[in-house]
Amino acid sequence: TSQTLPEKNCASITPPYAQLLEKLQSVRDILGNKPLTLAEKILYSHIANPAESLSDGKLVRGETYLQLNPERVAMQDASAQLQFMSAGMSRCAVPASIHCDHLIQAVNGADPDLQRSIVTNKEVFDFLESASRKYGIEFWQPGSGIIHQIVLENYAAPGMLMLGTDSHTPNAGGLGMLAIGVGGADAVDALTGTPWELKAPQIVGIHLTGELNGWATPKDLILHLAGKLTVRGGTGRILEYFGPGVFNQSCTGLATVANMGAEVGATTSTFPYTPSMRAYLTATGRAPVSRAADEAASRGFLAADEGAEYDQLIEINLSELEPNINGPFTPDLATPLSKFGSFVNEQGWKDELSAGLIGSCTNSSYQDMTSVADLARQAKAAGLKTKVPFLCTPGSEQIRATMERDKVTDILEDVGAVVLANACGPCIGQWKREDRKDEENAILTSFNRNFKSRNDGNRLTMNFLASPTIVTAMAFSGKLSFNPMTDSIPLPSGEEFKFSPPRGEDLPSQGFTAGRAFFYPSPTPEPQSDTQVIIKPDSQRLELLAPFLSPFGDYNPRGLELPSLKVLMRVRGKCTTDHISAAKQGILPLWFVDNADYSRIGSGDMIETVGVEDLLKGKANATVTIHVTKRNGETFTIPTRHTMSKDQLKWLHAGSALNHIRSRIN
Ligand code: SF4
Repeated sequence: TSQTLPEKNCASITPPYAQLLEKLQSVRDILGNKPLTLAEKILYSHIANPAESLSDGKLVRGETYLQLNPERVAMQDASAQLQFMSAGMSRCAVPASIHCDHLIQAVNGADPDLQRSIVTNKEVFDFLESASRKYGIEFWQPGSGIIHQIVLENYAAPGMLMLGTDSHTPNAGGLGMLAIGVGGADAVDALTGTPWELKAPQIVGIHLTGELNGWATPKDLILHLAGKLTVRGGTGRILEYFGPGVFNQSCTGLATVANMGAEVGATTSTFPYTPSMRAYLTATGRAPVSRAADEAASRGFLAADEGAEYDQLIEINLSELEPNINGPFTPDLATPLSKFGSFVNEQGWKDELSAGLIGSCTNSSYQDMTSVADLARQAKAAGLKTKVPFLCTPGSEQIRATMERDKVTDILEDVGAVVLANACGPCIGQWKREDRKDEENAILTSFNRNFKSRNDGNRLTMNFLASPTIVTAMAFSGKLSFNPMTDSIPLPSGEEFKFSPPRGEDLPSQGFTAGRAFFYPSPTPEPQSDTQVIIKPDSQRLELLAPFLSPFGDYNPRGLELPSLKVLMRVRGKCTTDHISAAKQGILPLWFVDNADYSRIGSGDMIETVGVEDLLKGKANATVTIHVTKRNGETFTIPTRHTMSKDQLKWLHAGSALNHIRSRIN
């Protein structure tokens, strides 16, 4: 039996289930009481005004825009605060938290790395701390942990809807909720109490049967699925898992699966409420949330209705799943472990691993760490140490302290691991790697992303994704072709060492320990309005935002058409949020009606819109065409289509969503 952390005051983190159920019923009444998926229930129970939004009595997945009221916002580092400040409010409309996790560089271990990063990023942390104080936001200081692990440990709750300013926000789906990664402007909608708009996603049902066994872990489920769906397969869709296989997983294992739904482009992922979620809530001091969730579940809220329809159905038998290794350079290149050695051989790559990295928001649960420690113990007993650098990033202070108390850290360090600060570290490229510069090499990580240069800035580093246990076993072998399920490692004695399948514990039998108290913010702090938000006048990193001008001001001779614009660049290939971080600031996104037109435009060409005026004036079926003038003087027009909703057109008209929000508030 697990012990638990002292029970927290859960008032601000318990979803208002009675209210949500009432709202859901009003949506059911409008839609004619058809069976709903779990994702639909959570979304529809957060619609700001169902009577208005669904006035025509219809809700079509993939078409209808929903105006939603999220219950919480989490922000990583400096991500939405400047935008929120520009709205001119004195406090946030919903509970919010800030997490300092992306700026801590891994050099030589947790404490020195943290101290160095606090000095080099002082102006950012001072800004974030002072903004938190002014607006009543919970401030998780550098070293406290990674945003998604902290959200799972402290804020996530079944049936909740939250936004986070980071792609892997869906991690919190491991607690049976909808957590959606957004840009700063969208987060400001929720922070200012403005309904947040989402096109009703399609729902992919993933039916899990069987049981994971041996070396297969929840990470392997999502690595396998990424191979099936590809990096585009989840776009505009929520992945909703159901079936008996869900109930065999730990809550943190489900979080790993939800985390990497981002790699297939999914809006988010979720699961029905399970006993493992109840146990995790209780073990993390949130028994009142689990009691409220039990009651909501008994009223049918936290699982799909019998007969609910999915837009696509995928069947996975967990008993047949083997470990997968995905990559390099894309998370959807999935290779089953049994075929990985021959894959490496066929590609002509050197059969050599250069580093193993475990942890991150994806895989630093107690279960992950104790499974890894089990392998380390086996290897140590055989006299082995890891053959390559082996780095570990705990996801939070709670995980770090519990690992330390339970001697997990000791055993990892005994076999050669370096335990880094509780932060993103090498997962986001904060890794001062001194070896293998400009040299082709292969690393294996338990992280979630693996595009070129992601971890060490070296485009020649081939980065493969795997479960933490596969990463660990291979770090002892040093070879890419090593399959710990079948292969042995030769010992100096001439004997052979073979791993037994790893065994971890879902939850610590002595309970979690919170660790160092100073890392924890006081819950739901009151805003201190006389606080001066600290932004250095000569800062090269932070600047108070001046509002964007509306493109349709007096200065624009083209009236309600966009002014003449120069094409800056044409991109191709797989783009992630890191590439498109300029998105959702009052930009007009247009699609080519004919894909072939894409190649007719190049950088330096001039374009003019025709039809934006009709759009803004609400003319039915208005379309936009682009008049192109090439650099050589050639001209032609290109038809386009758009997916802007009525509200998004208001942002365009105002010059940005923020301008629109500010005009509504003030
Ligand atoms: Fe993003 Fe990696 Fe940090 Fe997770 S650990 S939040 S994936 S950078």
